[in-house]
Amino acid sequence: MQKPEILIAGRLMPAALESLKHAFTVHEAYETDALEAVIQASGERIRGVASSPFRSVNRDLILRLPNLEIIANFGVGYDNIDASLAAENDVIVTNTPDVLTDEVADTAIGLLIMTARELSAAERWLRAGNWQKSYPLTRGTLRDKRLGIFGLGRIGRAIAHRAQAIGMEVCYHNRSRLRDVNYPYISSLRELATHCDVLLCAAPGGEATRGLIGPDIFEALGPDGIFINIGRGSTVDETALIKALKDGTIMSAGLDVFEDEPNVPAELLAMDHVVLLPHVASASQHTRNAMAQLQVDNLTGWFEKGAPVTPVAETPWPRS
Ligand code: NDP
Repeated sequence: MQKPEILIAGRLMPAALESLKHAFTVHEAYETDALEAVIQASGERIRGVASSPFRSVNRDLILRLPNLEIIANFGVGYDNIDASLAAENDVIVTNTPDVLTDEVADTAIGLLIMTARELSAAERWLRAGNWQKSYPLTRGTLRDKRLGIFGLGRIGRAIAHRAQAIGMEVCYHNRSRLRDVNYPYISSLRELATHCDVLLCAAPGGEATRGLIGPDIFEALGPDGIFINIGRGSTVDETALIKALKDGTIMSAGLDVFEDEPNVPAELLAMDHVVLLPHVASASQHTRNAMAQLQVDNLTGWFEKGAPVTPVAETPWPRS
């Protein structure tokens, strides 16, 4: 029997690529020219796409693959995929939830402590041979502070659990109030920022959240406020964030994600009161292997058993 043909649009973990090569005829296309060539030569035969967050699976690509059945993303965030259009065209979209939740939550807490206690700056101080001079005490602390989580989903909950263990109060804002948690629900993002000392974004990217964290939110957070982002850079108005950090509207920020990755604004790079990470919240071998396996399982699950493992909310499953 002929193997189904799939497009590898975005670099995958080597082990995942090997597994996919066993089960499928794969077309690897990482650059625009290569993608165009694959679409021209094999677009009609491609039934699956394996994508990664850095490759957009947009309207144009979906519509140019007329026999597409499934898009399997590497990552829980799938704002790189036009999931609504996929659903309209009966194309399944899958992501890799749960297997990365604890790793991302660990990173978020690490970033939070690094930012509040200025640990990157302290390390730079030591490496510069300054230990003999007394190190300035940090203005920031997590003692008696309230954490406001924007996006209390799988990852947000895991962060909340850890934050409580280190003595922080937790409150949150989602579009809907959760019935199974006791953390105070705050009905708007602006109120959340007013109500907390540290605002942490763990919400998805995409059009619904684009630019929501702007000047008004930083003003509400205030001059002793800390902003942490492990969600998506698109949720933040980065120009407003830079201004807020420069003029003291907020105290500091810890960022794992940016508006135009991998380009980080020079103004942020020059600041000492920010901690900047290169989108590494899930980036341990352990967790990336688990994500890769789930991506492969979604593709083989669909083509071998007719059932994807983790379809996203826009892909109703089971189909009626
Ligand atoms: P979930 O879907 O479990 O949680 C998302 C939460 O955000 C839900 O509680 C949802 O509640 C809330 N939310 C969604 N849209 C909005 C909105 N417009 N306004 C307010 N709240 C909103 O996802 P996960 O927790 O698994 O992942 C969250 C995100 O974290 C991912 O989408 C991804 O972007 C990011 N991420 C980043 C990583 C990194 O490397 N930095 C790694 C992994 C994930 P409700 O629907 O009620 O609004």
